This record gives sequence, C-alpha cells and structure tokens, in this order.
Amino acid sequence: MSVYDKYETVIGLECHIQLLTKTKMYSSDIAEYGGLPNTHVSVVTLGHPGTLPVVNKRAIEFAVKLGIAVHSNIREENQFARKNYFYADLPKGYQITQDKTPICNGGYITAKLKDGTEKKVNLTRIHMEEDAGKSLHDIDPFETLIDLNRAGTPLLEIVTEPDIRSGEEAYAYLTEVRKLVRYLDICDGNMEESSLRCDANISVMLKGAKEFGKKVEVKNMNSFRNVQRAIDFEIKRQIDLVEAGEPIAGETRSFDAEDGSTFSLRSKENANDYRYFPEPDLQPVFVTQEYINSIKTNMPVLPDELFKLYTGQYKLSDYDATQLIELKEVAAYYNQLVKHTTNHKSAANWVMGPIKSFLNERALTISEFTLAPDKIAEIIALIDSGAVSNSAAAQRLFPELVNHPTKTAQQLAQELDLIQNSNSNELQELVTQALSKFPEKITEYKNGKTGLLGMFVGEVMKLSKGKADPKILNQLVKETLEK
Ligand code: ADP
Ligand code: MG
Repeated sequence: MSVYDKYETVIGLECHIQLLTKTKMYSSDIAEYGGLPNTHVSVVTLGHPGTLPVVNKRAIEFAVKLGIAVHSNIREENQFARKNYFYADLPKGYQITQDKTPICNGGYITAKLKDGTEKKVNLTRIHMEEDAGKSLHDIDPFETLIDLNRAGTPLLEIVTEPDIRSGEEAYAYLTEVRKLVRYLDICDGNMEESSLRCDANISVMLKGAKEFGKKVEVKNMNSFRNVQRAIDFEIKRQIDLVEAGEPIAGETRSFDAEDGSTFSLRSKENANDYRYFPEPDLQPVFVTQEYINSIKTNMPVLPDELFKLYTGQYKLSDYDATQLIELKEVAAYYNQLVKHTTNHKSAANWVMGPIKSFLNERALTISEFTLAPDKIAEIIALIDSGAVSNSAAAQRLFPELVNHPTKTAQQLAQELDLIQNSNSNELQELVTQALSKFPEKITEYKNGKTGLLGMFVGEVMKLSKGKADPKILNQLVKETLEK
C-alpha cells in the first residue's frame, strides 16, 4: 500500500456558465462573443452615474430551466447584491451578483463514471451574476489592454457540495454539466472559448477522518482534461506536504497546462472583503410557482429521460444509449429515425455506424447531414425484408442515396442491382448447379469435413452474382447436402 492510499480527496467545483441570451445581464448591450474590442459597451455596462441596471428576463428563465433540470429548490424572492472590488476590467468597481438569496438551492447532478457506476453530486446553490471584462496581457508587449465587450455578460454559477472524490469524478461531472446545458440550450458549453469555466476546491484527509482538510482553490483550467490533471497534481502535492509534516496553506492557485503543475496566486488569509450589500438599483425579482410551471411544461427532453427511453422501451444497451445521447443533435436525428422504423437497434447501429463514419470522413456534423431520417428507415426496411444485404446497403446503397435523395431506397437498390435473390426455387437451381461440379467434395463433406460448407456457399454466391441472401443460401446448401 502506498502512502497515497491512506488519504481521501475531497473536491467541490464551482462552474460558471455563460448564458446564450441576446443581451447582457443588466443592460441591452448585445452579449455576443467576439466583435471589435469595446464595441458592445454602453454607459449602463460602464456604470456611469445616473444609469440604472435592468434584469434580463431571459437569464431568469434560463436559471429556472437549469434549476428544474437539476432538481433544485427555486427561490421565490430573488435579491441581487453588490460585490465590491477594484480591477481594471471591472468598470463599475463592483459586480452585481446574488449573495444570500441564490435563485436555486440544493438539487443534484448524476455523473456516469467509466466503469458504468453512477456518482450523485449534490449542489449547494446556483446563482445569477454578470461577467467582468477581459484583460489582454499578450497583445501589446508593454501594456495590458482591456476589452469590455464581455463585461456584464450573464452567468450562472453552479456550486457543488464537497462530494467529489477524484479527478475522474470531476471530469464525469463536468461532462454531465456540459451535456445538460447544451440540451437546455442555455449555454454552448464550450470550455476552450471559456463559455464554461470551472474552479476546483481540493483538500485531502486521512481516510475515515471526521473533518475535512484545508482546501486549496485552483483556477485557470481550460479543458475538462486539465481540470482532472490539476486535481491529480494537487492531491499528490497536498499529501506530500502532509506526509512531510508541513501545513497546507489556504490559497488560490493557478494551473500551468505546460507541465501540469499548479502554482500559488494569492493567499486566502488576507482575502478580499467584498463588502456585499443588497443592490440598491434593482428591485427583487419574484419567481412565482405559476412561472416555474409554465417553464416546466416547455422543458426539452433531457439526457436522463432519453437514457431511460432508449434502454427501457427501445431495449438498447447502456453503451449504445450513452453514445447516442452524447450529442443532442445526434439524439435528435435518432429520435426522428425511430419515428419511421421500429427496429430501434438497427437504427442505433446506422446512426453510430455508417452515418457517423460518413460524416467523420467528410468532417461534417450531423446537423450538416442532408439525408432525411425516413430515408435511412427505408434502407433498414429493405435489409429487414431480406431484399438487400447489410453490407451492400452500407457500402453502396447508403452513399448513393445521399447523392440521390429524391429516389426511394427501393428504386435505387434496383438500379444498382442490389436486390438479393431470396426466391428459393431459383436459388435451389443454382445450388444444384454448383454442387454438381464437386461430387468428391460432397462425399468428403458427408464423411465429416463440414468445413467445406463455406466453399459450396461461395460457389452458389458466385453463380447468383452476389445477390443471394446469405442466410437463406446457407440454410439451403446445408439442407441439399444433407438430403
Ligand atoms: P469559500 O467560502 O471559500 O468560497 P465555500 O464554502 O463557499 O468556500 O465553498 C466553495 C466550494 O468549495 C464549494 O464547492 C464547496 O463544496 C467546496 N469545499 C468546501 N470545503 C471544502 C474542503 N474542505 N475541501 C474541498 N472542497 C471544499
Ligand atoms: Mg463561496
């Protein structure tokens, strides 16, 4: 047993998701990524004297949507609070956030781990706030430049309980958060473009200890993988310190993606006092039960529900279901497809097999796929009726149909001469014809050399020019030989 096995890790994550609203959290400036620097900025965003913020209705709607999806309690009376601090990219000198009255309390997100087990991560809270601008340190060699386009962009901060126990669990949790916000259409979930950000709070303690160790906060990870790396690094660093009898400093650290290490940014001992107080320029926002119900009735289908449908009613394996659900657009295509076929398993195979490869080879996404789901259903019907073999359908019929979507699969299969011969009288003749060429081999077969069956079948297949239904053919050859 290594020393590391003596310890248990405790992790809580704080995620910021940038909302896909048209305008900012408290002003009508557009909340779009990009644009020339400092062009999406009005006097409200700048907090000029005499200006007043107004709460973005859509941001409230998104917060409630997320709250419903993660089983939170949604607060009726929502107050906003000022969090005061000075920074060059914070033009007002304060951020309008929520302090004591987050819009959501409690709830949970269930993450799926690699080994198939589930991990329930409880949530502490979700609150609404605005983003700061951006300080650009790497454009001018001497000066830091400020772009305030992002200032005031709506965010939801999702804070977990200290329930996570490893880097792998953190990774799985984040995957679930991203999937969820994408299904809800409230955030694009793009961590590389920082529309989803995550800070990790990490501590270690001896297994079975009653009290958590002192936590360290790590920032600046720009991918899920890097969150996992940062956590793994911290676990080792902290255990090494404890083992050496050294104290863990309560601090904020930054992640260095180059070497996978973390380094100290600032100590928490002399942490900022943000002097929170209720935002005097905003009335509290009331979220009524009626409003919550109206959003509930318009909720999109969520990944968990799809998983239950696919594995339950459709009888797909957990693996297939997980694959299909991974991307909302793929699941949507599949959902359309199964409106036209009852062969759910074959539909799943087509989406994850031929369609996926076709798109991958052309670097396309499923949203750019032009063949309608009912056309795939036509192919599946042809295969199921025995008219076309699986391989002919995948390799020839399918790509041709993409190019000729106005034809039916049946027409095209005929034109391409892919219709299999399953007429047993005709087939029987071919079998008799083929077998007549190999009298000695037939004796060998009858004397126990059953491995010859494949050879006989191959000969008939040649005579049928590849159009015989392999299943029927096999059966027929066997029967004829055993007569
Ligand atoms: P702070 O007051 O420093 O912001 P919070 O209590 O608000 O701390 O917690 C922030 C995050 O840190 C939450 O996700 C919480 O679950 C997590 N957390 C709290 N204590 C610990 C701990 N001892 N180890 C790891 N994570 C912790
Ligand atoms: Mg806190």
